Amino acid sequence: MTSKTKCLIIGIDGLDADLLSHFKDQLPNFNKLMQKSSSIRMTSVFPPDSPTAWASIYTGLNPAKHGVVSFKDSRTRSKVGEYLDYVGNIVGRAFWDYAGRHNKKCCIIFPHLAYPPWPINGIMVSRTTEVDLRKFDLKTYPTNIPLGCNPAEVMPITSFPSNPYQIIQPTKKLILNEVKLGLRFLNNYDWNLFFIYFSSLDNIQHVFWNELENYGGDKKYKSTIFNFYRFYDKYVIGKFLKYIDENTVFIVLSDHGHGLRPCKLVNINEFLARAGLLKVKIKRHNFYDPSYTMEFVKKKTTKIISEKRIIAKMASKFLSLFPQALGIYTVSSPIDWENTVAYLADCSAGLKAYSYAGIKVQQGLSPSLYEKTRQSIVNMLKQIKNPFSSEKIVEWVMKREDLYKGPYLSKYPDIIFKLKDEWGVGWEVGDSLYGKSISHKLFPGNHRQESAVLIAYHPSREFLQLRQPTLTDVAPTILSLLGIDNYNLHTFDGENILRYNSQT
Ligand SMILES: [Zn+2]
Repeated sequence: MTSKTKCLIIGIDGLDADLLSHFKDQLPNFNKLMQKSSSIRMTSVFPPDSPTAWASIYTGLNPAKHGVVSFKDSRTRSKVGEYLDYVGNIVGRAFWDYAGRHNKKCCIIFPHLAYPPWPINGIMVSRTTEVDLRKFDLKTYPTNIPLGCNPAEVMPITSFPSNPYQIIQPTKKLILNEVKLGLRFLNNYDWNLFFIYFSSLDNIQHVFWNELENYGGDKKYKSTIFNFYRFYDKYVIGKFLKYIDENTVFIVLSDHGHGLRPCKLVNINEFLARAGLLKVKIKRHNFYDPSYTMEFVKKKTTKIISEKRIIAKMASKFLSLFPQALGIYTVSSPIDWENTVAYLADCSAGLKAYSYAGIKVQQGLSPSLYEKTRQSIVNMLKQIKNPFSSEKIVEWVMKREDLYKGPYLSKYPDIIFKLKDEWGVGWEVGDSLYGKSISHKLFPGNHRQESAVLIAYHPSREFLQLRQPTLTDVAPTILSLLGIDNYNLHTFDGENILRYNSQT
């Protein structure tokens, strides 16, 4: 790979490898790229949340090293968007920072999470993507570059539409505006490394996944999600592909895949309670018991939030105005903390029925008791079975240090696990072991760790992959394509996984 090679990178949030393969015959541009790739799958991080995942893509580091990761539990007052406090950890450590220090000119457009922009060798156009969490803003480095449009034209769409179908046209308009702005920078500035990020597909999949699942046979193709894959194929991939020449490698990647949000719940805290590791305050099931009343109100509120989009919108607005409110929500729990040893933690405080979660073990146990407790919980989780088929529900479970190592490892629960895709964790305690998810209707789509995308394309050469890539391989791979190999081996958790195929 010569030092003249340029890299043009398109990041599409939530682009799913399985859907791409499924739709590829009707996606001519993606298909052109995929025909030259032996594999397009990439493994995301745990948990496969967007901020956590993009931070790993940018830095080549696992989340325990960059710290952009957020688990919530009912013990701590967790605020919404807590991970934003750690964004400073990626400043100066992104792949474009390394490239810039090797005199590569970088043009970085809308990098998710990387806001405000910081000084680089080139241009950074940064915006706030989480418009439901914080006010929309757009800033550039250097400060005086003309955008060629009104910033409001590239403002991401809300994740909480009261009528989902109303976001389709505005989302398409937004994507076209993003492409227009991107091409303007691509043409007007000298660059060796160009990166542009698109946020909308993730949102569309969250909201419309049930359509995809409900259609059978050929009708499968007549869904909103499929239409968006076609839209991206034509107006994003097609437009940028025109600029790929012999000196340029084209990379298309995503932070995680998408799938159906679990419908079935397994109430992990109830398992812990029955194992004697978690104690509940509720003694009597009546309204004279304040903790029962609180739990009753909470259950009802969650149900209403999930079923009524307009209320969900208000709730999200409320949470963005008062980020501490989630803390109140999570702390008002029926758990008797004095006598509890272990309890569930996930990324949504139980609002979203995630299939990836963890268990926190109370501090203050002796080291040997702590290890014994963890081991017994690991064993217990492995034994949880579907009550109807006696199939195991937990896909994998491990101690956190067996997954990642780094200064922020303590942000992970002591034990982490992934349920099979159709199962999510429920937070109910004091009642049944299994239940049904109520957030399923509101956000039927769910992030998947296994089906993120990495495609590398060159017009006349082919690449070989050393193995299936993971997000931390992206930064060192991009640097190698640019001819930068002389960094310290310990700089990244991943490695360059692409080689040119000498047969081509
Ligand atoms: Zn994402």
